[in-house]
Amino acid sequence: MLKKTAKIIVDVPLMQTDKPFSYAIPRNLENLIETGMRVHVPFGTANRLVQGIVIDFSEEEDSELKEIAELLDVEPVLTAEQLRLADEMRHTVFSYKISCLKAMLPNLLNSSYDKILTDSEGSQRKWSLLNESQKIEALKEVKSGHLKVSYSARSKENKKIEKYVKASAKLADFKIGKAAKKRAELKSYLLNQEEMIRQKDLPFSSAVIKYFVDNELVEVTQKEVSRTAAMFEAVTPDKSKVLNEEQALAFNAIIESADKPFLLEGVTGSGKTEIYLQVIEHTLREGKTAIMLVPEIALTPQMSNRFIARFGEKVAIMHSGLSDGEKYDEWRKIKEGHAQVVVGARSAIFVPLENIGVIIIDEEHETSYKQDSNPRYHARDVALLRAKYHQARVILGSATPSLESRARAQKGVYHLLTLKHRANEQALLPEVQIVDMRSHLSDQSANFSDILLEKIREKVERKEQVILMLNRRGYSSFVMCRDCGFVVGCPNCDISLTLHMDTKTLNCHYCGHQEAIPQVCPNCNGRKIRYYGSGTQKVQEELEKLLPELRILRMDVDTTKTKNAHEKILRKFGEHAADVLLGTQMIAKGLDFPNVTLVGVINADTGLNLPDFRASERSFQLLMQVAGRAGRANKKGEVIIQTFNPGHYAVKLVAAQDYEAFYRQEMYYRQQLSYPPYYFTVQILVSHKDEDIVAKKAYEIASLVKEKLSAKAKVLGPTPKPIARTHNLYHYQILVKYRFEAQLEEVLNQVLDLTQKRENKNLRVLIDSEPQSF
Ligand code: ADP
Ligand code: ZN
Repeated sequence: MLKKTAKIIVDVPLMQTDKPFSYAIPRNLENLIETGMRVHVPFGTANRLVQGIVIDFSEEEDSELKEIAELLDVEPVLTAEQLRLADEMRHTVFSYKISCLKAMLPNLLNSSYDKILTDSEGSQRKWSLLNESQKIEALKEVKSGHLKVSYSARSKENKKIEKYVKASAKLADFKIGKAAKKRAELKSYLLNQEEMIRQKDLPFSSAVIKYFVDNELVEVTQKEVSRTAAMFEAVTPDKSKVLNEEQALAFNAIIESADKPFLLEGVTGSGKTEIYLQVIEHTLREGKTAIMLVPEIALTPQMSNRFIARFGEKVAIMHSGLSDGEKYDEWRKIKEGHAQVVVGARSAIFVPLENIGVIIIDEEHETSYKQDSNPRYHARDVALLRAKYHQARVILGSATPSLESRARAQKGVYHLLTLKHRANEQALLPEVQIVDMRSHLSDQSANFSDILLEKIREKVERKEQVILMLNRRGYSSFVMCRDCGFVVGCPNCDISLTLHMDTKTLNCHYCGHQEAIPQVCPNCNGRKIRYYGSGTQKVQEELEKLLPELRILRMDVDTTKTKNAHEKILRKFGEHAADVLLGTQMIAKGLDFPNVTLVGVINADTGLNLPDFRASERSFQLLMQVAGRAGRANKKGEVIIQTFNPGHYAVKLVAAQDYEAFYRQEMYYRQQLSYPPYYFTVQILVSHKDEDIVAKKAYEIASLVKEKLSAKAKVLGPTPKPIARTHNLYHYQILVKYRFEAQLEEVLNQVLDLTQKRENKNLRVLIDSEPQSF
């Protein structure tokens, strides 16, 4: 007899689990289960319970199918569009389908967080403590709306409750003694209040308030508030600006057609964000919704504030600075249709928003749009897939577009829109000066030229502000013995350890290894341990010595570990509580401080010297971006770039503020070397703890790939990775460059399959399509 069965993708990362497994549906779940819901199912010979996602149903012979153990959701957590998206993504990301599906869910739903059921009286039960029939009953009650479900974030409450008060019937006649002035004040305050007021907003001490609560002079009501509500409170509402001529041309082009994506190439401060805001406004008027991606929103509170100022409660914010609980709140707000504009970092591209009218990717050239763990998707590719499904517009914006996007625009795959001038008419593009450090290093300093020091002094005297960028964190790069040349390295990785003065430790930036600073050389027992290179901490110390009156704020990974630390530092700088903001590249992005008239780049070379085909492109983008922080309002901006490579084209073209020239020059090199965007690339990374095994396997894989692909494909390697060992694993890489290979997907899946063989048990194979660097 045929019976309805569920097709389920289980959360077990194995090749064979990429296809759904069929499970029998228990009778009592038949009317409750839908696609896009999570379940627990027995899996493998041991029938271990694993989480899975229902993707389809079918009719099958009632054989010996295993049965679903438990239904975890009452409503689908994944939409039909998302299930389809996972299938489409699967062709490019070379990761398991379950990892694509999980990328679309908030963390709370991916781990074994317990569900909490709340009835209409407010009493709560834990899902895990119910027996089977109670669970079925509970599911039905949730469906009919008698029970509410939520998730507890570990031990934390899954909801944030706030108390609201208003005057009780008793208050007016209640006698308060003459001596109790504050109580009398609160009494009249409450009697004049018509609405309920949040208890914590009452301008009275908690002792006074407690007296009112204890004597029932106020009625207290508890309300659930979104944990992210605080983000919306401090922002002053804002109206749209009249677009200038260039902006209006771009805006009109965008709303007049939706046939292909737009590349909005506009110099820093040209008003791209204002265009995004107005396109979104237009989209909302059409009754549709919008996704706005920014590189890393935790770094750019200014950006999210602009969206909240324009769209208020319609906005949901999604970024890595939020706790799992906060992310879940925002996700729910979107899922329930209460948000029409989602502003977020990379993963926000997956939000369950319906009826999308526009997807905007700001600073589209940023590497953070590519995820560097499985699934290795690029937000831009996912955006194009979702836009196709929704027939939505896509806008890619940047002052320095990636070569890939710019080349597509050149070919007519994208519409190219350009903004050549800053939006604020008084704001000119900054003047950039290159300082050759080979001849200009100051006698008193290891990091500064006299030219830069003099400029800092001059600006600060005029009460203007300075941004200084150093593209390296920590105190010193490494610790070396002056006697024997020994450099303290990581025991797990082939890399020297970085000195961190605040914790007095040496840290590995790859695996997190940490150890105390040695007093004597571990190699020769000598005492001449010295610190080399320079990090933000050291530069700050030096600058404090050179210019003692200077007020400096530092922003790097070490000063921004705590929640909202970025925001606090930036707020202080905005209030002119410091003259200088010194930081790593995290200060290059998005900041808009009108009083900043000088940007100094301490060392432009770090990025230029990386062994990476994108080193020039990245350096150019970063330097252009940080230069763009200077002179954004009425005061003229200046930029000083210190470098040991003053003749490098990327540096020279930043000085000329000429993206076009850079694009042409770099494209020429890329063509000469058969690099992207002339070729597509795939990198295969093979890792093992034994170096001989990894080399042998990498050769096997390379020959397999060569054999199966056409002669036109270029298969390079295997070679050891530049940092050949991390986390106690040796890494080899193979690079495939190709234009069109019909067999590619199949071959790469075969390569992935190799890891399933018993003999390859400890072999790790990663496939990265369009790697960000090689
Ligand atoms: P971008 O995103 O290209 O860096 P922004 O949108 O941040 O540029 O604009 C730079 C500055 O110019 C901001 O302070 C913004 O408020 C202002 N601005 C943008 N467009 C206009 C306009 N049409 N009229 C007046 N000011 C504008
Ligand atoms: Zn390490």
